[in-house]
Amino acid sequence: MAAGKRPTILYIEDDAGSQLLVLRTLQHAGYEVHIAPNGLSGIDMARIHQPDLILMDINLPDLSGREVTTRLRAMPGFKHTPIVALTALSHAGEREKAIAAGLTGYIAKPLDIDALPAQIAEYLAGKQDHVDPQALAEARTAYSQEVVERLESKIRQLERAYSDLKRLDRMKEAFIQLTSHELRTPLTVIYGYGRLLQESPVVARLAQEDQEFAALVDTLLEGIERMAAVINEILLVSRIASGRIELVVNPVQVGALIEKVVADYARAIEQRRQRVIVDTTQAHVRIYADRDLLALALANLLSNAIKYTPDGGTIILRAMLHGDHVLITVQDTGIGIDKAEQALIFERFYTAGDTQLHASSKVAFRGGGLGLGLAICAEIVKAHDGRIWVDSPGRDEQRLPGSVFSIALPTRSKLSEPYLEEA
Ligand code: ADP
Repeated sequence: MAAGKRPTILYIEDDAGSQLLVLRTLQHAGYEVHIAPNGLSGIDMARIHQPDLILMDINLPDLSGREVTTRLRAMPGFKHTPIVALTALSHAGEREKAIAAGLTGYIAKPLDIDALPAQIAEYLAGKQDHVDPQALAEARTAYSQEVVERLESKIRQLERAYSDLKRLDRMKEAFIQLTSHELRTPLTVIYGYGRLLQESPVVARLAQEDQEFAALVDTLLEGIERMAAVINEILLVSRIASGRIELVVNPVQVGALIEKVVADYARAIEQRRQRVIVDTTQAHVRIYADRDLLALALANLLSNAIKYTPDGGTIILRAMLHGDHVLITVQDTGIGIDKAEQALIFERFYTAGDTQLHASSKVAFRGGGLGLGLAICAEIVKAHDGRIWVDSPGRDEQRLPGSVFSIALPTRSKLSEPYLEEA
């Protein structure tokens, strides 16, 4: 404890009434008091505040006060911190178990508020409660049995919850697949009849005579095509998300694929007044890959670059040959990504920053997104035996440090016969 500084006390307690009573009493006695409402937050707050003394309720909603104490004693800086139980001590052997778990002492509940500050001062001065050594040895055994029993029941609970979640996830995937298929079938029919209609001599004549009518038919068919594309994307994403990737491998010309993906986003790029530079001069190669999936991965990186770069920014897509792999990079002049988040963003449903902003469009500045895009990229790249990573100096919405996403794909992949040719 630093001289002249008010001693800091951490009180780990879930009962609001007790929290308030102890807080007021100890603050009044000149202590700085922090309250943690459960065991886990108690451990976190102890790390942050490095208290001079910890008051511990035993019956906490998550870890017990004894377990929290055992954990704290194993952490640097808490070996000798006084940890005092505030407990009703209703069961025989409670005191012994508390000492066995590493607690320094115990103050019996109901609390004597007038006596509490002096009791605390004693423990701060080095008081240590003792129990009969024989009883302590028995308590140690009883305590370790109790901990293992709780651990077993927690593991069983978690296993049950995990299998329930897996079942729900399978149901959700089946539902998505079923509805998408059900929607796709009539849509195919509508699209087919639409095309027939467009090609019929009567409609063709009407379209020639009346431009408005021609535009109407075109817009109708465009809408149907877009809807079919969306449904196909949902099916693809749901397949990938549930780990069912089957690659349809073909020779793919990397440069041409990048050009196609950029062309698909031409309208968004124009709307956002961004400049896109494509440099594939160093990678005139074809590799064996699943063209559609690779295009989807690149499209996700490009749409993110558009999305996280303010209007007027620049995006550079490069492809180059690097020894035995092709390196594709998507570089932007956007808001960047915190170092700590760089590994996490490839996980499913991870969205950095304020999710409130993830509202609508996929390419509006910081708009739209479930946090699936990069997870899907990672799955696709993994299926191709490749690697994906990001480099960014950090996130800064004013200085715009930008990010570079890189994908390295082997030119000689085990997906196929070794295959690489100059295009
Ligand atoms: P989302 O649908 O939220 O965009 P992604 O999986 O594509 O999900 O991305 C996960 C998170 O990674 C995003 O929420 C965003 O915070 C961050 N991120 C992805 N790409 C970029 C980028 N080019 N610049 C800055 N942040 C990015």
